[in-house]
Amino acid sequence: MPASSDAAYPAPDPIVAATRNRRGAKLSLVAPMHNETEVLDAFFGRIGRTIEDLGVEAEVICIDDGSRDDTLARLLDWARRDPRIKVIGLARNFGKEAAMTAGIDAATGDMVVPIDADLQDPPELIEEFVRLWERGFDVVYGVRVDRSSDSFVKRFTANAFYKVFNRVSDLSIPMSAGDFRLMDRRVVEALKTLPERNRFMKGLFAWVGFSQVGVPYVRPPRAAGNTSFGYLKLLRFALDGITSFSTVPLRVWSVLGLSAAVLAFFAAVGLVIRVMVVGREVPGYASLMVVILLGFAVQMLAFGVLGEYVGRLYQEVKGRPIYIVSRRAGFED
Ligand code: UDP
Ligand code: MG
Repeated sequence: MPASSDAAYPAPDPIVAATRNRRGAKLSLVAPMHNETEVLDAFFGRIGRTIEDLGVEAEVICIDDGSRDDTLARLLDWARRDPRIKVIGLARNFGKEAAMTAGIDAATGDMVVPIDADLQDPPELIEEFVRLWERGFDVVYGVRVDRSSDSFVKRFTANAFYKVFNRVSDLSIPMSAGDFRLMDRRVVEALKTLPERNRFMKGLFAWVGFSQVGVPYVRPPRAAGNTSFGYLKLLRFALDGITSFSTVPLRVWSVLGLSAAVLAFFAAVGLVIRVMVVGREVPGYASLMVVILLGFAVQMLAFGVLGEYVGRLYQEVKGRPIYIVSRRAGFED
């Protein structure tokens, strides 16, 4: 059996398991889309087949995240032909996390599955997700065992990110787990109570807890079209993740400052004693410069870290909505 449970999460509750059955349950797929015209037909083809195989009632919520190609027009076309397809058009590009939030907010299913539009999250895996949900797990997440479809740099930086994140935050997010997962309705309701604007979804998914289990899968390359995430965007994403789940970068400076003060105190005492014993010596320009430059750099770094947090505080305090909807199609209301 491919499922590998994570010791950090509780085992499923047998009483809950007894109430779980895909017959009569509804599945919501949530697909954020940014310039995905090229892959749309393949996506709906695979998704349609998966839903039929599962034999569940389903809705497919597609969020157009301010695409500049004709993704929205094509989506509206699909929604007219297929009543299971629902479309949310955002007023501009709000980013994948916000788009996903919009979709999760609108989802009405007993099971909610965020899924990438580019078929890097194989829809066939949902069968296994549903099976484990029926066994009582509240969250079933995909774990990428083979990331050879990603470049070396991306794998390396992703790995480094998970290591740092799990070390500096109280939370542990499973390595190589993406957004692709199945969540029970009660997990979704818990997610919806989290008010933050800065939505690092992988962290929020882990934060709410519940019984979770991972299912390994091989992540294929993008079916068509291009990635929306360059390295700069990924770096910003990593900073968002760490700052929203850890204050270690802020607090580390007090430890550093204290150590520097202790060192400086002993150095001062040493210098005074030396002057008294061997007399005054020619001051060292180089060593002074090193201390000044180093001290200056460290202070700037500390300011920078402060800035990262203050900036995000500012964003949160303004309390602007996470996304703005400009168009809805396929919903009953
Ligand atoms: N996406 C989005 N808004 C964005 C960027 C991406 O909704 O600003 C969607 C995109 O359409 C896709 C998913 O997020 O369905 C993952 O993006 P992508 O495949 O470009 O990222 P990668 O797989 O390369 O990390
Ligand atoms: Mg992708």
